[in-house]
Amino acid sequence: MYKAVKGMNDVLPGAGEAFLESALWEHIEHVAARVLGQYGYRRAQVPIVEETQLFARGLGDATDIVSKEMYTFSDRGDRSLTLRPECTAGVVRAYVEHGYGHKAPVQRWWYMGPMFRAERPQKGRYRQFYQIGAEFFGVATPASDAETMIMLHRLCTELELGDVTIKINSLGDPESRVAYRAALLDYLRPKAKQLCESCQSRMETNPLRTLDCKRPECKSVMTLAPDVADSLSLAAITHFKEVEALLAGAGVPCVREPRLVRGLDYYTGVIFEFSTSALGAQDAILGGGRYDSLVEELGGPSTPAVGFAVGVERLALLLSARTKISSRPDLYLIPFPEVVAECMALAEDLRRTHGLRVEVDLAGGKLKTQMKRADQSGALHVMVLGADEIASNTGKIKDMRSGESLPVVLISDEIVCMITKA
Ligand code: AMP
Repeated sequence: MYKAVKGMNDVLPGAGEAFLESALWEHIEHVAARVLGQYGYRRAQVPIVEETQLFARGLGDATDIVSKEMYTFSDRGDRSLTLRPECTAGVVRAYVEHGYGHKAPVQRWWYMGPMFRAERPQKGRYRQFYQIGAEFFGVATPASDAETMIMLHRLCTELELGDVTIKINSLGDPESRVAYRAALLDYLRPKAKQLCESCQSRMETNPLRTLDCKRPECKSVMTLAPDVADSLSLAAITHFKEVEALLAGAGVPCVREPRLVRGLDYYTGVIFEFSTSALGAQDAILGGGRYDSLVEELGGPSTPAVGFAVGVERLALLLSARTKISSRPDLYLIPFPEVVAECMALAEDLRRTHGLRVEVDLAGGKLKTQMKRADQSGALHVMVLGADEIASNTGKIKDMRSGESLPVVLISDEIVCMITKA
C-alpha cells in the first residue's frame, strides 16, 4: 500500500478531512478568479520547476526557504533544479524572459498552484501546499499598494472568512533600509549570543531575518528591537501614510505592525499580512508587499511591482469550520439498461439548454445499490427511467429531502421547472 508523501495532501470529493474536500477548493478558486478578474488580473501559468539559481538569487540565500526548505535535485543533464517554493520568482522570470518590461510593463497577473517547502508538517503547514497569488507590475504608487489590499479585503469578504486582521508595515526605500539595517545591527551585536545558531550566522549578512525568526530566544531579544519607522526616509513615510489614508477611505481597517517583516529578501517598501485568530499557530492567511528591485535583479528593466500569495489550505481550514460546501448534482438519473441511450440524451439536453449538473448512473446493478449511490452523490433529485417511462414520456422525480415523488413530463423545461420549484 502506497501512501502520499508526508506533508502532502490529496484533495478529493468526500475527503475524510473537511478542509480537503475538493468542492471547497473549487469554490475558493472560483471566487478568487472572479474577484481578481474584477480588478483586471489575468491568469499566468508558469512551470512548477525552475533553475535553483533563480530562487537562490530571487528569494535570498539567507532566507529559511532557500537555506533549509527547498526541494532541489539534479536532472538527467546534471542541472540543479528546484520545485518552486513560491511563485513570484517564476512569474518575474517569465515577465522578464518574454520582454513585458519593455513592450507592456503594466501587467496584473494572478496564478494558482502548488508550492513545495520541506517544513515540519502540522495543521495549516504542509510540504506541498497551494497558493493563489498575484503580481502587479509597472506601477509604484501608494494607490497600487492600496488597491492590492482593498482587493484582498474584498476576497476575504466574498469568501465569508469572518474576522481577519490586516497588518501592514513599511521596509522603506533603499536609503531607509540601509539606515534600519545599521540600527538593527547596533542593537543585535551585543546580544548575538542570546540568538539561535541560525540567526547568529546570518545576522551580519541579513539582520532583518532575525525579526522573522520563530525561535523563542530570538523572539524575546527582538521585542525591544528598534522600530523600522524611526529609520524611514521622508519619501517612505509619505508613501506609507498615503496607503493608510487610501485604505481608511475605502473602509479597509488595518493596523501597523512594527515588527512585521516578510520571510523573503525581495520585499521593499510596504508589506502586509492578513491573519486570523481562528487557525491556531499558523495564523497567516496571506502575505505580500512591494518588490521594486526584483525584476531588475532578474535581468529586466527597472520595474516596480507589488504582489501577494494566499494559502489555499488555510482558507479551506477556515471555511470548512464555518460552512459545508459540497458539489452535488442537480439531478441523478438512473436508467434501466434498455434505455441508457435515451437517458443520456435527456441528460445532455438538460446540461446544454439549462446548464444543469446531471449525473447518469452508468454503473448499473440492483436498483437498491443505484439508489444508494444517488444518495451518496448528494443529489437533491433522483429519477429512475425504464422502457415504460420513455414510451409514455413521463417519469417521477424524487425529492431526496422530503422523500416525495412527483410525476413529470420528460421534457427539459418541465423537469427544470419541477427541480427549481422544489
Ligand atoms: P509566503 O509565501 O511565505 O509569504 O506565504 C504566503 C501564504 O502562504 C501564507 O500566509 C500561508 O497562508 C501560506 N503558506 C506558506 N507556507 C505554507 C505551508 N508550508 N503550508 C501551507 N500554507 C503555507
